[in-house]
Amino acid sequence: MASSFKDFGNPPLTRQREVVLCVIRESEGHLTANEVFAAAKAKLPTISFATVYNSLRYLKDAGHISEVSFGNGASRFDAMTHRHDHALCTDCGALVDIEMELPRELVKRAAEYSRFKPESLEFTLRGKCPDCAGSATPRGPHVVRKYKAKQLSKFDKKDSHRDK
Ligand SMILES: [Zn+2]
Ligand SMILES: [Zn+2]
Repeated sequence: MASSFKDFGNPPLTRQREVVLCVIRESEGHLTANEVFAAAKAKLPTISFATVYNSLRYLKDAGHISEVSFGNGASRFDAMTHRHDHALCTDCGALVDIEMELPRELVKRAAEYSRFKPESLEFTLRGKCPDCAGSATPRGPHVVRKYKAKQLSKFDKKDSHRDK
């Protein structure tokens, strides 16, 4: 899919920047700089962390990617550059895109309350992802493990007084 990178008005990307952009677009989630580095190194073993870091800055400034951060923890890099929101799992840190329109009333009230001139508003839903919430339909090995643990604890109760 390298050809799609040439459709931008910007000058053509260097090989390193192209690899970094490719890593972010191929990833399902939102990678940290370290994760981008690991994936980029797999494609281009000679690439250094400094180059990856500089490429991320460049790609962000050029509007190819966006950066999301939540105060604590490392920034993550996002292939989606248009306005969107996120759901963040408080257990495993999974970050999922949400595409929805925020009610205008919300912006208006927040602006009135703070007396700020609004520029942007971001919504973050924090909670447990389906895997961590241990839904009844196990999907990944992660869930299966939790599901089993739950069944065992139920069994333990019936099995009256086991030493703790
Ligand atoms: Zn989770
Ligand atoms: Zn996103």
